[in-house]
Amino acid sequence: KSSLVWLRRDLRAFDHVALHQALQHSERVYCVFIYDSTILSVLPRIDRRVDFIHASIAEVDAELRELGGYLITRHADPLQAIPQLAAELGVDAVFCNHDYEPQAIARDEAVQQALQADGRQFYSYKDQVIFEKSEVLSQTGGVFSVFTPYKNAWLKKLAADPTVLAPYHIEPHAARLAPPPATATPLPTLAELGFEPSNLASLQIPTGMSGAASLFEQFLPRIAQYKDARDFPAVKGPSYLSLHFRFGTLSVRHVVRTIVDLMERGAGGEGAAVWLAELIWREFYAMILYHHPYVVGGSFKPAYDAIEWEQGAQAEELFAAWCAGRTGYPLVDAAMAQLNQTGYMHNRLRMVTACFLIKDLGIDWRWGEAYFALHLNDFDLASNNGGWQWASSSGCDAQPYFRIFNPITQSEKFDASGKFIRRYLPQLKSLSDKEIHAPWLVPRMLRPDYPEPIVMHDEARKRTLERYAVVKKTD
Ligand code: FAD
Repeated sequence: KSSLVWLRRDLRAFDHVALHQALQHSERVYCVFIYDSTILSVLPRIDRRVDFIHASIAEVDAELRELGGYLITRHADPLQAIPQLAAELGVDAVFCNHDYEPQAIARDEAVQQALQADGRQFYSYKDQVIFEKSEVLSQTGGVFSVFTPYKNAWLKKLAADPTVLAPYHIEPHAARLAPPPATATPLPTLAELGFEPSNLASLQIPTGMSGAASLFEQFLPRIAQYKDARDFPAVKGPSYLSLHFRFGTLSVRHVVRTIVDLMERGAGGEGAAVWLAELIWREFYAMILYHHPYVVGGSFKPAYDAIEWEQGAQAEELFAAWCAGRTGYPLVDAAMAQLNQTGYMHNRLRMVTACFLIKDLGIDWRWGEAYFALHLNDFDLASNNGGWQWASSSGCDAQPYFRIFNPITQSEKFDASGKFIRRYLPQLKSLSDKEIHAPWLVPRMLRPDYPEPIVMHDEARKRTLERYAVVKKTD
């Protein structure tokens, strides 16, 4: 028997469920990655994520070659390319790992049907999360919509069965990997895929399995401080691993096993438990998306779809100012500059900028969601949608609608000395630590090249409370 392993958001060649299963159940195993032409065709020609995938794929190929195999790549629509390749290679089955996004589920169903029509099997496995779909339910068997009870049930389930963290080794059956043919075509260059290099390399954003491993190594000595450090964007507090979680260049089982071991040894302080809770948020949002796919484009709490957002030319102008980091609120603008220049934005700032767009500018959260989706290196439909609906108060377990972040106090609290602001807005460098949070209060000549605030927060706050009045009764 022979099979084909289809890599998607699991760009690694170790502790890989689909690859492990394929090697166990077949004598010959091929591996493929498809550069999905439908997804790539709508992206700008410079995209850090394509760069990241391209570099990470090269590493998977090199690793598979070490093990005696190789990676096939195609630039095509997987709906046709997978059944076609399966036929060319004459494999009996295709193996892959679950993807929980609605479009990916539909794609996989279509591929499965095409394969089955040809007499081939399609197997898919849980790999990118510890617990998926309906594995963590309430005592009455319901799907959770509040995070804390979900987290408690998740932790209880893990304690009851730690074997879910066991690795899925590749090495024992690696000899079954199909060897590279004598005339193997080289991996496509970025230019062949129709893209130009981004600034990913000059930003020194680590790629591939080796990049994920080194970031995780660097983070572990900091994890004990995570709880205190994670909210301050000028501090190296978080792990910067989101891009790697997104593309599966790390094994979530390995990561969680390492953290649980740390906690059991009494190491890792409070930070380890808080960080683990963030990984559980990731699974919570994936579970919500799976059970409630209508959150794509619609409010989790449908009553919130009655809110009337700003429309027309003025709304577009406000939105453009937010996108460009020209709102006149330094923390918001510095955060948007971080996103635009690097593709990363600190979690605290994602909350601040999202709340500002929705509750200070009165713009539909879906506009912001789409902007983040285009620009975030770690864009993940479930987490991004969850984050935006948290900020707009329309999501499950979201911030209550009357809690409106004050962009000035957020700035004073989380970037007190203005270190982060100065990094991205050098034109405000000379302002004092106190002035930098509200530059409109200092004479104009001291802040050239910096815009006036596009709204005044106190007035915007009142308008937002009025706007949200339509949902008051249901909240
Ligand atoms: P760390 O603090 O080191 O956290 C570790 C990991 O936990 C992250 O890599 C991520 O996988 C997960 N995680 C952390 N916080 C969250 C969270 N709130 N929700 C879900 N998972 C979380 N995260 C994405 O991965 N992709 C997105 O598209 C995304 N969009 C967001 C949009 C908004 C409006 C908000 C408020 C949050 C969003 N997040 C998103 C969540 C969070 O901001 C990022 O995961 C985090 O900033 C990534 O940095 P890190 O890896 O250094 O995080």
